[in-house]
Amino acid sequence: MSDIIQLLPDAVANQIAAGEVIQRPASVVKELVENAIDAGSSSITVRVKDAGKTYIQVVDNGRGMSENDARLCFERHATSKISEANDLFAIRTMGFRGEALASIAAIAEVTLKSRSTDNELGTMIRISGSRIEAQEKDSIPAGTNITVRNLFYNVPARRKFLKTDQTELRHIITEFNHTALAYPDIEFQLIHNSTQVFNLPAGNLKARISGIFGKQIQQNLINLETETSIVKITGYIGKPEYAKKTYGEQFLFVNHRFMRHPYFHKAVMKAYEQILPADHFPSYFLFFETDPSTIDINIHPTKTEIKFEDERSIWQILLAATREAIGKHNLSPSLDFSKEGIIDIPVLKKDQDIAMPRENINRSFNPFENEGSSQYSGAMQRREAHRDWEKLYEKKSNDDLTPGFGFQGPDETGQEQENGIRQEDGIRQEARYLQMKGKYVLTPVKSGLMVIDQRRAHIRILYEQNLAILQKDSVNAQNTLFPETIELNTSDYKLCLELVDEIGKLGFEIRDFGHNCVIVHSIPANTAIHDIKSVIETLLEQYKNYASELKLDQHEKLARSTAIAAAIRYGKQLSIKEMQELVDQLFACSNPNTTPGGKAILNIVKLEDFEKHLA
Ligand code: ADP
Ligand code: MG
Repeated sequence: MSDIIQLLPDAVANQIAAGEVIQRPASVVKELVENAIDAGSSSITVRVKDAGKTYIQVVDNGRGMSENDARLCFERHATSKISEANDLFAIRTMGFRGEALASIAAIAEVTLKSRSTDNELGTMIRISGSRIEAQEKDSIPAGTNITVRNLFYNVPARRKFLKTDQTELRHIITEFNHTALAYPDIEFQLIHNSTQVFNLPAGNLKARISGIFGKQIQQNLINLETETSIVKITGYIGKPEYAKKTYGEQFLFVNHRFMRHPYFHKAVMKAYEQILPADHFPSYFLFFETDPSTIDINIHPTKTEIKFEDERSIWQILLAATREAIGKHNLSPSLDFSKEGIIDIPVLKKDQDIAMPRENINRSFNPFENEGSSQYSGAMQRREAHRDWEKLYEKKSNDDLTPGFGFQGPDETGQEQENGIRQEDGIRQEARYLQMKGKYVLTPVKSGLMVIDQRRAHIRILYEQNLAILQKDSVNAQNTLFPETIELNTSDYKLCLELVDEIGKLGFEIRDFGHNCVIVHSIPANTAIHDIKSVIETLLEQYKNYASELKLDQHEKLARSTAIAAAIRYGKQLSIKEMQELVDQLFACSNPNTTPGGKAILNIVKLEDFEKHLA
């Protein structure tokens, strides 16, 4: 048999290679922008037409190329970035394979204009389908300007697979953002069909993030910084209340290179685990710096998956740093930084042996009815709740959250108490609750002053009570003095009738009166509702808002909607007793930190801060 193996012509080899490197217009943008960065540019402009399908231009002010290099750069494996195998372990540049320009030139019409600062004239080269079509010396601004026209013009099968302009543009923006985030000190512009999509001046990371994601993100960022012998991590994480249900503002970089790293993602998610609802994603923009020899960026042709030598340790470092950043921001009330920097968020642990707090709530108690008519059961009631406090936190004797007041009921004067001052933590017993602006309840704790959002706290309390009621199939109603007839619009009326049984358990006993009218005979026992119509409307409205959220089951939706509808409003004046009851009940909840929707309920203004500001 005669020999049948032959070497492929370069043009064909390049086309095959291009299949790996260039999948879509966004890949061209990524490669060209990375080259501009490697060339030391301080300003990079990207112009695309028709989502890059017909035209992509990247202009930089970097070091440019000599005439020879301008020609050589289109050869396969032509790179200025590595010269021997060992260099692979010390890569600090974005590119190193010497494949991108050869690949792009194999499947598009490319014009390169480049001049290095030490040359007076620059070089213009036109190349298409790997064939050089023209080369001239020309007067060209310093830097490089590459235009790529008609991508995949000679590979119709690939061109056919391109998606709509909208989708391809989205991919371009994603790649552009990765690079722009990684290099805030470089000025970037993106222009699509003569519309400016981004104009990002050089600046710091925070400015860059808000340049891309909008101004409102700025006040929602928490600084994160940690340095160990194996990795340095810096950047920002988003405040829990800023977390979204859509995935998209999560970015990890290593040595300025964007990476996908599901394992590290989990470390960040774990830090937020107890303070975010399961379906929410926190934002994060985190930059790892590590010795290049400890990572392998070679395992994926488009280089977004990166292997680390010591992933497990980095995972721990990342988790601890994220927890610490959240804690430092006082967003979660667990604040002992002396403990090896690893913060333990004080929500209940699975193995913690405590009674279910819900069992100890007096559901018939109504802290918000008019004071005169209060059914308040006094010291007995309060002691119940205090015991819950103790149970909840007794295992954490040093816990900052432990309130400095009233562990003893008013009739149990302990020895520690002397002249109204508890020696242990120096908080005067009688100064316990303050209400501000009809919105916040303030109460001293060991580490400072706890600020509680009254409405959010009550939403959490009602929500947990509602869930318990629905699960137990019990009923929680107090009759209204006069049954109230309310008229609803047709769709709300229908929805209301659908929910009659379940909201009946939560205390709203509602009967059909026909002609879009219902009669409300009772309201939940744990609330004081005056405007029944508005509460029912809010409840239905909330419920409809949750309709699209498939992850929430009906109980969850009802528990949330009813809590939101019935919780005390801002502006409601609370008596000392009411505030105390609110706080006690809040801390009987399984998660006193956030509302079911993930908003922060409380915060601690730290003693150190008093001291700092009053120094
Ligand atoms: P790589 O980036 O992996 O080296 P490329 O094919 O992307 O491979 O580029 C080949 C070479 O061309 C680079 O190593 C660099 O020397 C040169 N080059 C490419 N783009 C630019 C640019 N914008 N400015 C200066 N030199 C460039
Ligand atoms: Mg490159």
